[in-house]
Order: sequence, then structure tokens, then C-alpha cells
Amino acid sequence: MTQTPSTGSKDEPSPGRGLLFTPGFVDAHIHPDKTTWGSGWLSRSPAHTLTDLIGNDLKAQLEFQDSVEDRAFALMSHAVLNGTMAMRAHVDVAPQIGLRNIHGVRAAAERLAPFLDVQVVAFPQFGLLSNPGTLDLMEASLADGADLVGGIDPESVDGDLHGHLDVIYALANKHGRDLDIHLHDVGAEGLAQLRLIAKRTVIEGMQGRVTIGHGFALCDASQPALGFTLDAMAEAGIWMATCALGADPVPDLDLLEKHGVKVAVGSDGVRDAWSPFGTGSMLDRAHLLGYRTGASTDAELERCFRLASSAGAELVGSAAVRSFTGSSSPDRLEFAANSIPELVVDRPAPLRVVRGGGAVTLDG
Ligand SMILES: [Zn+2]
Repeated sequence: MTQTPSTGSKDEPSPGRGLLFTPGFVDAHIHPDKTTWGSGWLSRSPAHTLTDLIGNDLKAQLEFQDSVEDRAFALMSHAVLNGTMAMRAHVDVAPQIGLRNIHGVRAAAERLAPFLDVQVVAFPQFGLLSNPGTLDLMEASLADGADLVGGIDPESVDGDLHGHLDVIYALANKHGRDLDIHLHDVGAEGLAQLRLIAKRTVIEGMQGRVTIGHGFALCDASQPALGFTLDAMAEAGIWMATCALGADPVPDLDLLEKHGVKVAVGSDGVRDAWSPFGTGSMLDRAHLLGYRTGASTDAELERCFRLASSAGAELVGSAAVRSFTGSSSPDRLEFAANSIPELVVDRPAPLRVVRGGGAVTLDG
């Protein structure tokens, strides 16, 4: 990160603030197809279980008046203006909605192509084996806009741990795609599933190409199996994408680092049926991760920034973020701030988002 005095341009920072140059952000886990961003307020029904939330989600999606493309574009363009340069979008695939979410998010991504790299995960939100027809649609989506194969709680949501893993690994291998699996299950059962996924990843030769979204079981330090589960994940090169959401558990970042498990950060759902919260800003997300994990030292706050930026860039392969070297980098963010720790706490909007040497504007 480079710091220089103000240049005296119209973007001059406030008195006492320097001009801070940083790499762009990467949102490692977001659901732009579900958002209501730019579409008015959605009042949410009570939900007490994951099944309730999934039911509310489908109902809301079937009732939306604005298209997937319009809603996704509204959220993704807001993220771009707040410094996101790449994202991994989990996009629902199911017979109830066909491939329209994949097509909508891909169309929005094409409109933002100069500024934003988008990986699309074909995500079986409403079940895979338990929702007949989904597997065929997931395979079709891989030729029609999706990049990765997704999965969801093989046991608690889909009801067939081994069957679910069999089909998603087979699909990923057949088409040479990476895997990104939502796993909300907690406790010893959740950890056992993670070890099974780690073992399967090594057997299939997919080391470094599998990500676990949420992985709440990894956030419970009271579990005796946590240490050797983390070791198994590190050996398989499995990433964890965490989202630092309000009531959900967060990982002990020191512990994951000690065991060699790589972590990136994402927004998860933004103003959708799951949650009224979220902004799509990864600086907000770095702040929330710091807040939720009790970050206080500069090193801890800098780590939150890094997980929302260069770590995510390693996961999704973003050259624009990884090539950042300082104030003359063609892809950079400029903030009125004196340091990264201060930035993470204050979370100002960027003064400028620079891509390919030019300031990003989305007018017209
Ligand atoms: Zn998710």
C-alpha cells in the first residue's frame, strides 16, 4: 500500500487525511440473482430453520417483478463503484426457475465486463438429488454461462451425503470445473462431512480447486475434531469462504492460519429474502469481519482487508487485483485515509476506482 500527500485535485482528501492507494476488492461469495437491490423494499417472513429460509427465497424469487439481470446489474454495479474488481457469484439453478438466473447474472456481468470479472457457480439452492431435474439443468448451465459446480449441505438439505458428493464431483470432473459447496451443518457431523470432502478432493485429484462456503462447523473451537479436520482441509487445499454475517458463527482466523487453511470473504445474500442487510461493498465486509472477530491490532485489521482483497484474488484468479504494486498501478483504488487499519474501521467510499489506467464511471 502506498501513501502520498494530496495532489490538490478535485478529489483532494479532507484535511489530515492522506491519499491511500490499495488493490481492488474481491467478493468471494455473493448471490446477485436473489437481491432486491434497486427494486424497492422486500418485507421478510419469519424463518426459524434453513428449510424456512429456502422456502421464503423461492417464493420471493417467483414473485419478483424486476428481472434477474436488472437486479443483479444494480447490485454488481454498486459493488464496482465501491471497489470490487472480481466476484464469485452463486446463482440458483432449479426446475422451478430454469436457467434464467444464470442467464440474467451472466448478462449483467457482460455489461460490466471492463470493470468486473465474474465467476458464476451453478448453485442447487433448492436441492440437487432431492429436486429432480436440477442435475440436468446444472450440467446445461455449464455450457450456458456457469463456470463452477456448486453444492449444498449434502446431508441436511439434500438427504444423501454420498450421493450428492458423487454427482457434484462427477460433474466437475467431467467438465473440468472447480467446486464450491455451501455447508451450513455444525458440530461433529459438519466436521465429519468436511473430512469426507477433503478425502474425496484428494482422491479426485482436485487439490486447491474446492471451496467451502460458510463452513460453520469450522467456527466451533469446542469440537475436539476441529484441529485434524482443518489439517485435512489444508492438505486438500480446500478454501473457506466466510461472510461474517450477523448471527452466524465466524472462524478463528489465527487458528485457520495456523493450520494452513486459506480463507476469503464474501457478502453472501445482499438485501434478499435471507437478509435485509448487506451493501455489496467489500470494505464494509472487511469491517464486519474485523468487528465480528474482535480485530484490534493493525495486523488483525490489515488481515481483514487482505482476505477481502488479495486472498480473494488468489481464489478467483483476478489479475487486476493481484498485479497491484502501488500508486501507478493501472488497476487500483484511491481512498482518503492514512492507513489500511484506519480504512477498515472508517470504511469510506473510494475517491476513485481506477481500471486500466482510467477512472471508472458507469454513467450511461
Ligand atoms: Zn451463499
